[in-house]
Amino acid sequence: MPHNTALPTFDRQNHPIDVLVLGSGLGGMRAAWSAAQASSRPRVALLTLAPGPSGSSFANYNRQLGMQVPLTDQEREDFVAEALGLARPGTAFPDLASLLAEQAEARLRDLQALGAPLLQGEDGLPLRRQACFSPHARAVILTDLARTHALLRAKLQDLNVRVFTGQQVTRLLPARNNLVGAEIHSKNDGSAVVRARAVVVALGGPAPLAERNIAGPGNPGQGWEMLASLGAGMENTDYLQYLWLNLDSLEFRSPAILAGADAVILTPDGREAAPSAKVLALADARRTHCPAAWGPISFQGKTTHDYGMDQWLQAHANDQGVVRVKVGKAPWEHVALFAQAGNGGARIDACARVLDPDSAPVPGFYACGECATGMHGANRLGGAMVAATQVFGHIAGQSAARDAAG
Ligand SMILES: Cc1cc2nc3c(=O)[nH]c(=O)nc-3n(C[C@H](O)[C@H](O)[C@H](O)COP(=O)(O)OP(=O)(O)OC[C@H]3O[C@@H](n4cnc5c(N)ncnc54)[C@H](O)[C@@H]3O)c2cc1C
Repeated sequence: MPHNTALPTFDRQNHPIDVLVLGSGLGGMRAAWSAAQASSRPRVALLTLAPGPSGSSFANYNRQLGMQVPLTDQEREDFVAEALGLARPGTAFPDLASLLAEQAEARLRDLQALGAPLLQGEDGLPLRRQACFSPHARAVILTDLARTHALLRAKLQDLNVRVFTGQQVTRLLPARNNLVGAEIHSKNDGSAVVRARAVVVALGGPAPLAERNIAGPGNPGQGWEMLASLGAGMENTDYLQYLWLNLDSLEFRSPAILAGADAVILTPDGREAAPSAKVLALADARRTHCPAAWGPISFQGKTTHDYGMDQWLQAHANDQGVVRVKVGKAPWEHVALFAQAGNGGARIDACARVLDPDSAPVPGFYACGECATGMHGANRLGGAMVAATQVFGHIAGQSAARDAAG
């Protein structure tokens, strides 16, 4: 598509921009931080929609997020084997999964040096917990996400990153005269074009497009669509993670309980029904992960299709997707599936360059966080997305800075 030459240049772009970062979730903020710290000292600007904490990064209802951090060679090996084993029926690439394993620890150290609060044991060291789909306790827990956001904003300010809020990105603009960019729109200033030598796309995932979702504020959910229009090769886009939530409390509810031994559901035509022995046999495997798994997963050395529990619940949903369940002596509750996060996005390489469907780089564009895929496939290890925001955010920022300097 031709550029819209009728639009004015972003009038607050009073200095040229070397690296433009789009989005201020954990991925975008990490990318801006790393770009601004690069030895070439690029001029970095970050454009985003909401003024405060935004996106899924700061949205979890208990204000905590898990981050996979393998610490030993054995743990890194396990991490890669688990991530690739889980990836089917989607696609994951060993080099990207290995980068995640190798660099997560260094990115955690950066967060610790910044003062980001982590759940700690009595010895003062970060506690590591077991996360979804993994039998191993490797995930640290980021607590007080609002504080983490404030620390990241202060870091960007120290590094002279110019942050512009209230700006909605509407389109990504391919290279012209060695500059790439984006069309943006703001309530006060209308539409404009902003250009830079390199762009990092960190606009998050498509979960907000689902009617029921638990993604954070400030994300219209169009990042994937804009990357596809730019010409990016998109992978794993069929795989959105869904969780069961109680509609009143909005708390997670495990299908291992909702379709477990003590559960009864009320069918839409008013009959009570209990799960069959076949469904109940899936409960132990289903307990190991909150999101429904796509395809078979391995549990205790055997292959299981434990999404059978989710399917059984879903088969008894009313036409609004709501299931009435009673567990033991608890009152009847209403539960439904909510979209949480996407595991797909633009294919990137080990430098976080956006690749086209033939695996050639789309000049000037980098992606990270929920906009990028390939380090996980259809399923991902719990805590691996936060690790991906930090590892690939850092790589994207550094690569974009190098590109801008070159
Ligand atoms: C409730 C919940 C719990 C989770 N728990 C975990 C966990 O424990 N561990 C884990 O690894 N993962 C977890 N995830 C997933 C993970 O948190 C997210 O995938 C990750 O934080 C996404 O980071 P991001 O920077 O890519 O995108 P986001 O954090 O979504 O940020 C996107 C940014 O882009 C901005 N933006 C979007 N579109 C536009 C636009 N058009 N114009 C301008 N700005 C725009 C948004 O305002 C936001 O600033 C969870 C997700 C949710 C919703």
